[in-house]
Amino acid sequence: MDETKRKAYHEAAHAVAALRFGWRLNYVSIASPTTKGWWPQGGASPNQEVIVALAGYVAETIVYPGSEKCAREAAKDDFDDAAELIQKLDDQDLGSWISRTRSFVEYNWKAISALAKALLQNGTLFPGKIKDVVRTADLGEAGD
Ligand SMILES: [Zn+2]
Repeated sequence: MDETKRKAYHEAAHAVAALRFGWRLNYVSIASPTTKGWWPQGGASPNQEVIVALAGYVAETIVYPGSEKCAREAAKDDFDDAAELIQKLDDQDLGSWISRTRSFVEYNWKAISALAKALLQNGTLFPGKIKDVVRTADLGEAGD
């Protein structure tokens, strides 16, 4: 398993989810794993927050099938966030939130994958570039 690649897909998935939900997104980086570059906007639903929290883990399990256990250990903070959030929701089953997040991540896979590749090249991306990469992927113009 390539640790940098794993991290790139993880962070790209958080960022694409935040972007899709219209959150404030200042940067995404594989250089500073402990600092989040996105925040919910007023009006963000707890459902969105759960999906943003779990998206990184889910993306890792798609890139590296079978890595669930170690991906989950690595994403302990994300799972702590998700556990706290789902206590406020009608559906408190973590498994069902993971599968909902998986549908979201799969639907957005082209954008996540393009952003992960851009992160591997650049380390850190700011909003202009993030939106460019995602827009290009949405248009189906991604190189490979
Ligand atoms: Zn994370």
